[in-house]
Amino acid sequence: MKVMKFGGTSVGKPERMEQVAQLITRDNESKIVVLSALSGTTNALVAIGESLAKGDKQAAKEKIEALDAHYQSFLSSLLKKKETYEKGKAIIAEHFEFLNIILKISFNEALNKDILAQGELMSTKMFSVYLEENGIPHALLPALDFMQIDANDEPQLDVIRTRLSKILAQQSQIKLFITQGYICRNARGEVDNLKRGGSDYTASLVAAAINGTVCEIWTDIDGMHNNDPRVVKKTVPIEQLSFDEAAELAYFGAKILHPTCIWPAQQEKVPVKLLNTMQPDAAGTVITKDAGSVGAKAVAAKDGIIAIKIKSTRMLLAYGFLRKIFEVFEKYRTPIDMITTSEVAVSLTIDSDAGLKQILKELEPFGNIEIDKDQTIVSIVGNEIAQTPNVLSRLFESLSPVPVRMVSYGGSPHNISILVPGDYKTQTLQLLNKGLFGLE
Ligand code: ASP
Ligand code: MG
Repeated sequence: MKVMKFGGTSVGKPERMEQVAQLITRDNESKIVVLSALSGTTNALVAIGESLAKGDKQAAKEKIEALDAHYQSFLSSLLKKKETYEKGKAIIAEHFEFLNIILKISFNEALNKDILAQGELMSTKMFSVYLEENGIPHALLPALDFMQIDANDEPQLDVIRTRLSKILAQQSQIKLFITQGYICRNARGEVDNLKRGGSDYTASLVAAAINGTVCEIWTDIDGMHNNDPRVVKKTVPIEQLSFDEAAELAYFGAKILHPTCIWPAQQEKVPVKLLNTMQPDAAGTVITKDAGSVGAKAVAAKDGIIAIKIKSTRMLLAYGFLRKIFEVFEKYRTPIDMITTSEVAVSLTIDSDAGLKQILKELEPFGNIEIDKDQTIVSIVGNEIAQTPNVLSRLFESLSPVPVRMVSYGGSPHNISILVPGDYKTQTLQLLNKGLFGLE
């Protein structure tokens, strides 16, 4: 059994949904199809929640009406037969009725999660009616019946596995299942989600839970590229990546994959394929436990980084110093991305200023603190780059015009990360495209 996940743009237009139906019926393998909300929907739902949080019911109402109109026209071009069209309309009406009821009751965070869940619920149900209209046998698999996160918002793979295998065993004659990405239940049993872009994560968790043959992530580009196509002119798709390489690339900025989505597939060694709905026969990128080749494969950039330097002569020959510093970050649940140390100073980076004020206050007693905002981490990812001749020399030669603030090397055999001021990001990516890959 395999998993196929389609993102918002792949289901964002009626004709794209029709194409998804073709793609999932190309072979006879049993499959679970994970769908995102139609593109733009989750953003619209977030905006509705924001208006309600501000108490602006009128603005929320207008946004709900606009979204409703969008779904009406979507349905009328998707569903061609009267009977199925009426069915689709009734389903969508129910969801908008729910949104309109929310306007009348008092708003809270749990309710906001309910609002956010409407996108995936509607896309999967509309798609199911479309399949029905076209005589394609299938069943809807409600994600809220098996997708579970714990009190720390971490998905519970074992729980998901147990529930899913029970549900699938009850419907063993069915070969095609449709389910919602992104949404789940939390420890309190309420509707929750896996955070923005979380449908990839759903796909990987489901693939791991069923020990699938493959987890296919269908988007609108032909796989993971060696550099950011929005910044450099020429990029090429990467044929093969290891799970570790892919996780680093996703975390350090490659937008095509949700950063956390690799580990479940990796744990069960389910290959992940990144494929293009517009070019279904293109090879895309295959992610398995094997890296395929050695050397630098890609660079990715992550913006909005804050660098913190703590300088203290007390660090000299002291033990326990780093632990105390790390404890401050742990207390404010702030992950550290990069770290470099010298005998008298430590520099580290974080990607959010949510707890920054308190963190800085608690770090003060440890020494002299300096912070630099608007930095960018540029990660060079590959297999055994450390052992590959000339990667380091080519890297630093190409970057001679760039004021590199930090370098992290040796932490893993497949990553070198550098920190540069945000203003130098474009130049850095362009220089590396030429220096490492010979591309302009
Ligand atoms: N619909 C959700 C979002 O836009 C989840 C996803 O698309 O992956 O974030
Ligand atoms: Mg998406």
